[in-house]
Amino acid sequence: VWGYRKGQEEMTTQGSYQPVAPAQIAVSNSELNEFGCPTCGYRSGSMPVQMGGTGVWRCGECGGSCYVLADGLQEASFGGSDDGAGYTIPLRARGKADGDEGATGQNEPKAPVEHVPTPGRAQLQPHPRRGTPAHGRPDKRPPGGGEYFDSRGLGMDTGPSCFVCGEDRSGGYSPNISGYVQCKEAGERVVAMFGGKGARLDFRKREPDYVQVKVVSCKPHTPCLEKLHELTRAAGGIIGDEHIIVACGVVA
Ligand SMILES: [Zn+2]
Ligand SMILES: [Zn+2]
Repeated sequence: VWGYRKGQEEMTTQGSYQPVAPAQIAVSNSELNEFGCPTCGYRSGSMPVQMGGTGVWRCGECGGSCYVLADGLQEASFGGSDDGAGYTIPLRARGKADGDEGATGQNEPKAPVEHVPTPGRAQLQPHPRRGTPAHGRPDKRPPGGGEYFDSRGLGMDTGPSCFVCGEDRSGGYSPNISGYVQCKEAGERVVAMFGGKGARLDFRKREPDYVQVKVVSCKPHTPCLEKLHELTRAAGGIIGDEHIIVACGVVA
């Protein structure tokens, strides 16, 4: 049986590929948006496989997967591979528009025909968490104080001013560290720790659970940024007032 597997570019039934936790159930796209992950209700995730009106959605919180069907579809347009480690997608369905009949290749009229489930394909079902709105990341704070701040290291980015000396940096790129924070509210608290200089919130409506706080410095104060990265990393991805004070003291 020929198939196309996610994770490799060439079409083959063997070879290496990235295994994806196999999805078991299928929910509609509109219910996924409203109620989130069928298992835990989290609203953010990724879609590593998408074809023929069907996607495989992977929850960013619990890691579980489900099929997501374009509204109107009754079953997934592809199924799991025989070994259960990936997905086998019929070649004929590649690149076809939503609602294509897929493996049969026939354009039968849909409306009057009663849906006959295809063996091995997940069937549309009511969302298991109907009635409970999807949720994002909770506004958790570290038990020992401070805020979560997962810095990825030194780079270049835009920011308002140097977090050490307050020099205006709004004209262009500056030395920068960016840290993932728990949520928008937590990010606003982290920005406030810097007392009105050096830090800004990077919040995007489309990705409400991937919020960053960006901190910049002038060039001479780059070692202070590096120190701030080291201190927050050493604290386990946590930032506190004391880290900012120590980092600012690295360069007089
Ligand atoms: Zn989940
Ligand atoms: Zn400075």
